[in-house]
Amino acid sequence: MSREESQKKKVFDAEAASFLMKELRGNVGSGTTRSYEWRVSQMKALLKLMDENEDHIVDALRSDLDKPPLETVVYEVGMLRNSCEVVLKELKHWMMPEKVKTAIATFPSSAEIVPEPLGVVLVISAWNYPFLLSLDPVVGAIAAGNAVVLKPSEISPATSSLLAKLLEKYMDNSFIRVVEGEVDETTALLQQKWDKIFYTGNGRVGRIVMTAAAKHLTPVVLELGGKSPVVVDSNVNLQVTARRIISGKWGLNNGQACISPDYVITTKNYAPKLVDALKTELENSYGKSPLESKDLSRIVNSNHFARLTKLLDDAKVSGKIVYGGEKDESKLRIAPTLLLDVPRDSLIMGEEIFGPLLPIITVNKLEESIDVINSGTKPLAAYLFTTDNKFKEQFVKTVSAGGMLVNDTALHLVVHTLPFGGVGDSGTGAYHGKFSFDAFTHKKAVLYRSFMGDASIRYPPYTNTKLRLMKALIGGGILNIIRALLGRS
Ligand code: NAD
Repeated sequence: MSREESQKKKVFDAEAASFLMKELRGNVGSGTTRSYEWRVSQMKALLKLMDENEDHIVDALRSDLDKPPLETVVYEVGMLRNSCEVVLKELKHWMMPEKVKTAIATFPSSAEIVPEPLGVVLVISAWNYPFLLSLDPVVGAIAAGNAVVLKPSEISPATSSLLAKLLEKYMDNSFIRVVEGEVDETTALLQQKWDKIFYTGNGRVGRIVMTAAAKHLTPVVLELGGKSPVVVDSNVNLQVTARRIISGKWGLNNGQACISPDYVITTKNYAPKLVDALKTELENSYGKSPLESKDLSRIVNSNHFARLTKLLDDAKVSGKIVYGGEKDESKLRIAPTLLLDVPRDSLIMGEEIFGPLLPIITVNKLEESIDVINSGTKPLAAYLFTTDNKFKEQFVKTVSAGGMLVNDTALHLVVHTLPFGGVGDSGTGAYHGKFSFDAFTHKKAVLYRSFMGDASIRYPPYTNTKLRLMKALIGGGILNIIRALLGRS
């Protein structure tokens, strides 16, 4: 089957996936992707793609999510542009072998860690930031010198088809491909032997990906989600706190973001003040009719709308809504909604919300928030607002989360010197900046020796003296070696 025939086939099945893999493996064998020049050319091509198509990207995101243009331009295109710029600035340095010390046991010798591309990698991405989450891992894969197949999410179809079109036009298709599709197509891809699979999405599919990868001993990065808590102390600047919670929750795709605040924990006494501040700032941000606001994304589709509606209709939270709650099913819109004092065994506290609903849990003492968080699965992000340094230290030390941010939300994602990824149920592996390069790189250990200094003690016949000396050599310390030479050990 030729490439044209394979592309003409309607269904992307296992045969087509196997054909694609063979072709990419063959192409990668040429060594082209290993060169610094190729990697840089592809970064520049991506930058050009963005420069020439920002309007199309904004339109696609409008069509998929009614995402406000500012959010698309800043959080999707802008973030990706930054990733490319960091690669262009740092790549030469990242690609350089790192000289490391050697051991006495190998004297004389030198050693280095040589970064090497993994080969052919698969990126499977999610619908909520469909441009950024598709291409940001691809940036890492290219920077590390790999061929890459991207499978965007079918739940954001306009962005998926735009990505297919743009990557075909701008990128080197001998090594970079897009396969669009749903479960069947992804399953066909997952049957292949990849050198790495980078998956962004929910934990249920994360398990499917990891199972498929295990068959081939393929390593994975799983960028998953979870319930990211926000703990609010009573000593904070209330207005700034409310604004920053709003910005990380509704200002990020109307709560449909993996690092969105999922729920708030504060004290019983402080909760009414916090609710008032959130109400005031929500109204300042989205007006009195938030369903009409142009600055809020819609819910992605009717399945997710029904899922969120079910969380609100749970008898355990009826009467707990203190702000919002309005919905418009025909437009797939749900207003920013606050729920106060929801029971911890309610549906809304049992799963990641991934939408515009924000429950607030109250405790008698703020310290109890740590137990509340640690009694659940490890979140992707944990946020704390406080001016109490002791509590801050305790929080950082005792709460386990993919990432953590004190006195703000979501911004840790922007710092490319910080790894971005989960822990436990919120994921495995990390990326961003150099961590993206590392995620797609094998660090090859290389030791160089010459024919000098060939000590006979390692060769049979073995004697007690040789044993003593070898033990001392393996143990390291120069004193041990001298003692062994003197027959004192
Ligand atoms: P999704 O529905 O788009 O699914 C993600 C990908 O999995 C898609 O490409 C889809 O085609 C594929 N897929 C779906 N079912 C499959 C199956 N049975 N077999 C193989 N592949 C399959 O996205 P989603 O899962 O709804 O995304 C939301 C979740 O992702 C949330 O939990 C969120 O927290 C998480 N997320 C995490 C990050 C992160 O960076 N850590 C970013 C965004 C979203």
